[in-house]
Amino acid sequence: MRKYVIVTGGVLSGIGKGIFSASVARVLKEVGVNVNVLKIDPYLNVDAGTMNPNQHGEVFVTDDGYEADLDLGHYERFLGMNVSRRNNMTAGQVYLSVIEREREGKYLGTTVQMVPHVTEEIKRRIESLEGDVLVIEIGGTVGDIEGEIFLEAIRELALDKGRENFFFAHVTYVPYLRTTNEFKTKPTQQSAQILMKSGISPDMIVVRSEKPVNDSALKKVALFGGVSFDNVVNLFDTNNVYEVPEVLYNLGVHEKIAKKLNLKIENSFSWEYPKVFKNKKIALVGKYLGTDDAYKSILESIFLAGYRKPVVLDSTELEDMSDEEVKETLKDYDGIIIAPGFGRRGIEGKIGAIKYAREKKVPVLGICLGMQLMVIEFARNVMGYEGANSTEFDPDTPYPVVDMMEEQKKILKLGGTMRLGAQWMEILKGSKLYKIYGKTQEHERHRHRYEVNYEKFKDMFKFPGEEGNRLTISAKSEFVEAIEIDNHPFFVGVQFHPEYRSKVGNVHPLFKAFLEAI
Ligand code: GLN
Repeated sequence: MRKYVIVTGGVLSGIGKGIFSASVARVLKEVGVNVNVLKIDPYLNVDAGTMNPNQHGEVFVTDDGYEADLDLGHYERFLGMNVSRRNNMTAGQVYLSVIEREREGKYLGTTVQMVPHVTEEIKRRIESLEGDVLVIEIGGTVGDIEGEIFLEAIRELALDKGRENFFFAHVTYVPYLRTTNEFKTKPTQQSAQILMKSGISPDMIVVRSEKPVNDSALKKVALFGGVSFDNVVNLFDTNNVYEVPEVLYNLGVHEKIAKKLNLKIENSFSWEYPKVFKNKKIALVGKYLGTDDAYKSILESIFLAGYRKPVVLDSTELEDMSDEEVKETLKDYDGIIIAPGFGRRGIEGKIGAIKYAREKKVPVLGICLGMQLMVIEFARNVMGYEGANSTEFDPDTPYPVVDMMEEQKKILKLGGTMRLGAQWMEILKGSKLYKIYGKTQEHERHRHRYEVNYEKFKDMFKFPGEEGNRLTISAKSEFVEAIEIDNHPFFVGVQFHPEYRSKVGNVHPLFKAFLEAI
């Protein structure tokens, strides 16, 4: 019989429910359990692809070209595995398929309702996933209107399959009041009550807090939450989220789960993560400054390589600066990453940063839009193509060195229609990129609509080994996949997203090479 670990949240979002879920899954995997994961997002978007990174954090792209919530990135990094679109379910997907079924006449005259039709669709999707233990994280907090139907479906599933096969962990927050020097458990008590009103009583309450919570407060949580004191687990803030699997293991969380679910577990645990960090200053030039999560996978790639996280610099602030001022702003940084992005806001600031890095020979890595802007900067400042641009930002540019891919021109809908997911490319021998990869074939994840306009602007480019002051194409598919320049410690632009493939203990080689150059 398959078992389930269900993770719900209370009080606040953004307290690390995703990290907890990924860490639980990792610990279970370590002790020999065949584990799989599912993130449920109760929002109505069909996927995260159309959501603004400023509000919702980065869009994570899977190998199979799904534009996912960034929590799927935690799962990949923590579990060292590649997930797919089936590991994420949104309310949008569920309702869309129910309504499509209804329009196809497949409900045979019945009145289509939340219960049982929507709940059945949710259960069907859960049951289509493999794994002896399925860790399901329900996004948002209990009490959210959108989330209720998922709690109901899972309550029903637990009735169908037997409550003994389910372990419910409720992750909440206990604030600390400085003025009275005490921890406040009331919000946690209330969120546990909301959960119980949905017909689910937790097996464990995970108390997140700023600092360690005292036993008397934790006892209160146990009492009001209806769990034993033993099953209240306090996870206080840490500077390094990769500690969490180790913390959970040391607290015996896997044993508590195994006991309830009657799982056979081994006594093995090896979890290596970076603990000391090199102190290099790296600037990530981007425009999504609303949340640190907007560039999550890039920041984590650097951190997992054992370096302090980059500082995100606002490209719109660089925009109106003279070369001198750009230099003043960037001079203390050892390396620069030019972030991916969409739309014209901030691009001139990124181009200024690229010019500085190219001329002053500062290591620079351009990712997706970052690479396209490297081509534009080179066209303008080396080739002398005044006004060179991408047609994304200037449809009338005299030098459209970046242009929309032919196959994209007929597409009208915005959701899920870019060139997405793992795509094959050839890495050209003799390039810096080839030295980094050590092979000529690789798949990398993509998410773009525009491409380098090689056919029209062949003059700007050369291939490895050729002479001249040109951009070297170092990887290609049907499109230009990567560029670099000679006589520079590291000036590499890639059309794809290496950041999505970094895992704990296995950072993408491009980041390692960039950091080595630094
Ligand atoms: N806006 C660019 C394009 O669509 C780059 C996209 C990106 O950086 N992910 O091609």
